Amino acid sequence: MSPVGSGSLESLRERNRRQLLDALRRRGSASRADLARLTGLSRSTVSTLVSDLQAHGLVVEQDARAGSESEAEGRAPQQGRPPTLLTLDRSAGLVLGIDFGHEMVHVAIADLSRTILAERTQAIDVDNSAARSIDVAVALADEVIAAADVGSDRLLGVGVGLSGPIDVAAGTVHTGKILPGWAGVRPAEELAARLGLHVHLDNDANLGALAEVTLGAGVGARDAIYLMVSGGVGAGLILGGELYRGTGGTAGELGHVLVDESGPICRCGNRGCLEMMAGGRAITTLLRDSHGDDITLDEVMALAADGDSGARRAIADAGRVLGRSIAALVNAFNPELVIVGGAVSAAGDVLLDPLQEAVHRYAIPSAAADVRITRGVLGERAEVLGALELAARQSDVAAPAASAPVKR
Ligand SMILES: [Zn+2]
Repeated sequence: MSPVGSGSLESLRERNRRQLLDALRRRGSASRADLARLTGLSRSTVSTLVSDLQAHGLVVEQDARAGSESEAEGRAPQQGRPPTLLTLDRSAGLVLGIDFGHEMVHVAIADLSRTILAERTQAIDVDNSAARSIDVAVALADEVIAAADVGSDRLLGVGVGLSGPIDVAAGTVHTGKILPGWAGVRPAEELAARLGLHVHLDNDANLGALAEVTLGAGVGARDAIYLMVSGGVGAGLILGGELYRGTGGTAGELGHVLVDESGPICRCGNRGCLEMMAGGRAITTLLRDSHGDDITLDEVMALAADGDSGARRAIADAGRVLGRSIAALVNAFNPELVIVGGAVSAAGDVLLDPLQEAVHRYAIPSAAADVRITRGVLGERAEVLGALELAARQSDVAAPAASAPVKR
């Protein structure tokens, strides 16, 4: 008879519960076998804990038919009858995702199974109006919280994506020339104060990468490059299954590698950067003489889909230039997958075929043979889905949820 015996057992059990809840939060959904593997607990311990958590309403079985559209599209098909997937109940908490694109703010709210409950977008010149963009994001956040019909006390945190080099630790854009409109602004701090929530800020291409390898075109990929081709060009690196941010958070700034020393001056102050030669803005600039000064990227994409030879040529040439830079990354990192996302990726093979050809021409044969190049499947939602994923992974749900039974 030990005086500490029952106490130790209780704390062990509590620790196991926390581990299990934490694994579910990080993964979104998992089978009992997945949970055993992820936590290192035995199958029988997992089963007992899951039954207990189900009885308290903290963990529920995920009905495949109730999954969100993005999950239905994004999850890789499984062979045979899939095991029952478990997920945290909606009462365990919700997360917000905010994506600041160049010309749009996108806000969504999701539960910890990653099911989206509401989302909103609004067009705005994000790059040149930080204060107004933050106002719009806060207003859209209020709208999705109201639409989801949940108390704000249920919110665990916010993931935020911004299209510039991010100092993740400070929650700011690295001072410099890439997003001059955001110089001196502390977006993470300001959003945290106005929303009353923890905010996790990251580069938008990093978030796109996270989303595509979690629930998109690269589920389970260990080494992958996400190339985002929108108005500008960015990349997110997944190395060893984790997002790689580099020493100061700037890793993956592929848009500003040199392509042509005598090329046009870039917003970063250099000349002939990749995004000046092959980004969306470069594509529209190339078409101004032939298609009119005010042509937009959306119009270029529509024209290309209709078979316009000038639009298709501009996109194909961009693909070739992008492929040369990707070949260098393929040599450097030997990834299994390159996922191409962003607005220009909607051109499909018009962009991807020349890009792939350039990778095969310029990367060393063994590295080129290892890599598969594919289009992202999450489209323009990739970055906001990544923001939700970041928030869910960073939030601490296990502590409050495990300590008390939840009132239903
Ligand atoms: Zn540049």
